[in-house]
Amino acid sequence: MNIKVLDTTLRDGEQTPGVSLTSNEKLRIATKLDEIGVDFIEAGSAITSEGERHSIKEIAKQGFTAEILSFSRPLTGDIDYCIECDVDAVNLVVPTSDLHISDKLKTTHSELIELSNNAVQYCKDHGLTVELSAEDASRSNVDFLKSVYSNAIDYGVDRVCVCDTVGILTPDSSFELFNQLNDFNVPIACHCHNDFGLAVANTLSAIKGGATEIHTTINGIGERAGNTSFEETVVSIDRLLPEFSTNIKINEIYDMSKLVARLTGVYIQPNKAIVGENAFAHESGIHSDGIIKNSATYEPMTPELVGRKRKFVIGKHMGTHGLNNRLKELGLSVDDSQLKQICDDIKVLADKGKTVTDVDLQVIADNVLEINHEDRIKLDEVTIVSGNKVMPTASVKITIDGEEILNAGVGLGPVDAAINAIKSLDIFKDIDLIEYHVDSITGGTDAFIDVIIKLQKADKVVSARGTEADIINASVKAYIAGVNRLLRD
Ligand code: MN
Repeated sequence: MNIKVLDTTLRDGEQTPGVSLTSNEKLRIATKLDEIGVDFIEAGSAITSEGERHSIKEIAKQGFTAEILSFSRPLTGDIDYCIECDVDAVNLVVPTSDLHISDKLKTTHSELIELSNNAVQYCKDHGLTVELSAEDASRSNVDFLKSVYSNAIDYGVDRVCVCDTVGILTPDSSFELFNQLNDFNVPIACHCHNDFGLAVANTLSAIKGGATEIHTTINGIGERAGNTSFEETVVSIDRLLPEFSTNIKINEIYDMSKLVARLTGVYIQPNKAIVGENAFAHESGIHSDGIIKNSATYEPMTPELVGRKRKFVIGKHMGTHGLNNRLKELGLSVDDSQLKQICDDIKVLADKGKTVTDVDLQVIADNVLEINHEDRIKLDEVTIVSGNKVMPTASVKITIDGEEILNAGVGLGPVDAAINAIKSLDIFKDIDLIEYHVDSITGGTDAFIDVIIKLQKADKVVSARGTEADIINASVKAYIAGVNRLLRD
């Protein structure tokens, strides 16, 4: 059975506290949603604002394969704005719980059914596809819910949806509810919220109970605790419910997730299923050893399935097998006693609460292997002039192969100026800075700054780290350490 996916990242997802997307950003997300195979894209709520209508119109005129919907209340004013945006369909949201009908709308059951019927009729008269979403359906009287749906069906509604607006269903009650509603002759959808962390589980149960369409948001963003997560649900259907499928290209899920994280600024928790930083990372020795022998031992799916790569993390739980692998990747070969020494040194560092990076591993390995590298470049001095009225300028004194050199540079900020002053020298040409990452180790303005950079020269890539109270010193130190490593061979 094929399950259709309605993605509401651009409507319910944008209702995430603190999230607001530009038209251009919405169009980029919609384009990717269409590419990845989402069946229906809820592009926004046309009544909201002029800017919102502009975004919806832009998305509607792209000629996407996906159906484009706007959210709408059952009011002709709202629906007229949807018509103006030239969408294919409306998501007509009709509250059905007593709480919403009497306290929010201050109306009666019979008036509500009339309102709903008229709105469906009005949409159909204007050639729109209509999905009728019963808001707060999970707290509604089931018989009343059924009569709202069957009335709407008489008026030509195309699909109906059960909204668990405050996320109070459980996998059992979700199955029960859908099981009672599956004798309508239109597709039935499920829209879940994650207030108790059950949105994905409830959505899977809804499918078992008869839902043939699901509402999701990318990364599960949305009001309060968010909506059903697109990636977790789609991959679960694919891997865990063999009798069901979707039209989603699963191997593009990670790219989709990263795009939305970047544009919304809502970052993903590291331990989030499928798309979290650690979802395919292994540190423990027992696990790493198993994974290297057969990845199925500790991975329920391959990272490639969702467009990712496996990662072995260096740390105190890492066994010698995984460590040896990592050292080989860094081009270092060690004997058994050296390997054990490196392993012990890593544990000492990790016990101090420090994240062990490749840079640390390299330093530890160098010490154990007694490889004493003479650094070709040494920083003697760096001086910065910066402020709100001057172009940030840096002068540096460095020693390269024993020769003292003075140089200066300007930049967009003091760090940029300092790096520019260094890298304009001949020895740095062909070296590209491909990553620059700053962390403040403690909270205050007196915090230590940890800078990690990645440098590339031809096909060789190294990372290096600088930790200082001063961000410029930390950056320059990391940069020069990285260049020295690149120039070592
Ligand atoms: Mn919602």
